[in-house]
Amino acid sequence: MKFITDANLGKLAKWLRILGYDTVIYRGEADRNFLRNAAREERVVLTRKKDMAARQFSGTLITVGGDHVQEQLREVMEKLSISADVSRLFSICVRCNETLVTVDKEDVAGLVPAFVYDTQAVFRRCPGCKGIFWPGTHIDNALTHLKKHTQSHHP
Ligand SMILES: [Zn+2]
Repeated sequence: MKFITDANLGKLAKWLRILGYDTVIYRGEADRNFLRNAAREERVVLTRKKDMAARQFSGTLITVGGDHVQEQLREVMEKLSISADVSRLFSICVRCNETLVTVDKEDVAGLVPAFVYDTQAVFRRCPGCKGIFWPGTHIDNALTHLKKHTQSHHP
């Protein structure tokens, strides 16, 4: 499942990337071109514009109602029945939506803080921005955050 969001949903897009979903932010006006891009790349459309739902579109389109990113994320996850899959977390660069590549630990020596190098086992690099990520602590934080904000409505 891949997503395209309108420019108003940048934070939501970042969270979808954290969850491991290829998510493009459409920077232009959310118009016919937006939907054409979505259809061509078979992306689920996420938009704040309520009138978009009335447009002709053969794919999946979700009008996101919540004002806060936590509500928005919960809305999308519930509507599409997706849940946080730990194995997918941090597989995509949050900044540029590129698929991260696992690199050998030795290759990042000197490129990450010493305490990180000493405590983390898995490192990934983004082919786009060349950023180096170590999922360990991020995954714990993300899961805590997700649990707090996406499962609160489930008794
Ligand atoms: Zn990147």
